[in-house]
Amino acid sequence: MRRSIVEIEERIRRGEATVLTAEEVRALVDEGAVTELQDVDVVTTATRAVMSGTYAVFSFRLAERGSFSRAVSARINGVPAHVGPCPNERLGHVDLIVFGTAHRDERYGGGHLFRDLVARKSVCVDVETSDGRCISRDITLDEIPHARLFGTRHAFMNYSAFVNTGDAQSTIFHAIPFPPAMSGASFSGCGILNPLKNDPLLETIGVGTRVLINGAEGFVIGTGTRSTPERPNLSGFADMHQMIPEFMGGFVTSAGPECITSWAVPVPVLSRYVLDAVLLPEKSIPMPVMDISTRSPLWVADYAQVWQDVDLAVRVRSDSCRDCRDCIAEISCPMGAIKRPVRIDRSLCFNCGLCSVLCPDVFRARLGSIRSPDGLGVPVTLRQSDRLRAMKLARILKKRILDGSFRISACVERLSP
Ligand code: SF4
Repeated sequence: MRRSIVEIEERIRRGEATVLTAEEVRALVDEGAVTELQDVDVVTTATRAVMSGTYAVFSFRLAERGSFSRAVSARINGVPAHVGPCPNERLGHVDLIVFGTAHRDERYGGGHLFRDLVARKSVCVDVETSDGRCISRDITLDEIPHARLFGTRHAFMNYSAFVNTGDAQSTIFHAIPFPPAMSGASFSGCGILNPLKNDPLLETIGVGTRVLINGAEGFVIGTGTRSTPERPNLSGFADMHQMIPEFMGGFVTSAGPECITSWAVPVPVLSRYVLDAVLLPEKSIPMPVMDISTRSPLWVADYAQVWQDVDLAVRVRSDSCRDCRDCIAEISCPMGAIKRPVRIDRSLCFNCGLCSVLCPDVFRARLGSIRSPDGLGVPVTLRQSDRLRAMKLARILKKRILDGSFRISACVERLSP
């Protein structure tokens, strides 16, 4: 038995469709309430993670027509931008491309800039022109008519966990120098919520599939770089004007700032095959464990080890705080979310759990551990995916499908993973 998108769209329009988040499906499966194709029409999936393959394209008027010939270099809030590709000769206009991983300094990069723009903060554009002048302008997103965010490699079906068999070292895969000698692990991936876990053969997700990127409507362009049938990922884009700040941002690693991006993808349950993928439990989702030093695989764990029986958010016991002058948790927090007197700014917190490792008296969370083949557990010391906000995004997508403000769409071309 197969169903069509048109059929499901019609059920949504008539108010008869069963639209569930991936988390809700899991709970119903455990109760035995979802077993057949007709039990669910659309599953809303989501992921929020540190995603390096992110860039933004901006195009806007910088100065009066004829006031300069061309831009040759540019920075926005100090973050280096690439000028072009259009030269915009004598138009007073600039086209700029900013990488999410570009850095102004050790604590601020492209990801921070994207969030500041979406939060409607004023940013400073500094442009060097071909005649050697510098033009500066303060600007907000509402004065940038074209602002699109692109992903070159996003939303892996399952990413990896990392451990370190060698000495401590700085890396984009940890917010502090990576703990040595297998004493800690970091990982990415939202487990059962991940979009491609629910459609690994890309039966419903293809070119032109409508999605939410950082909360804004966008589209899948194709598979991303390094996509393979075993571990597919996606590329896509969305308009930044409609994005929601809490789903994006910068994440400071021990090798410099990285970029956080979120995706929510509707998966229409068109076939038994898609349903079987949706029903797959967390313990059946492989999580390759890699050595951070060599980037070589060591063994394969599963996502139940890091997402079952853990705390998705950190609790704060402020009465245990000794108010240390140099608070290691505050200094190391990749989001700058720890404030004094001790508290967590939840609008910034990524739920990475690092503070609970560095100061367990004050910050409490169970993060789980990754079992090695010899049966020992390597404790998780950093999460680079935020499942709590991915769940929120999946709920937002569900609501928008049901109230008709988000239309599920058939892809215009199938992808091969
Ligand atoms: S969990 Fe702790 S360390 Fe991580 S972002 Fe939140 S406050 Fe910062």
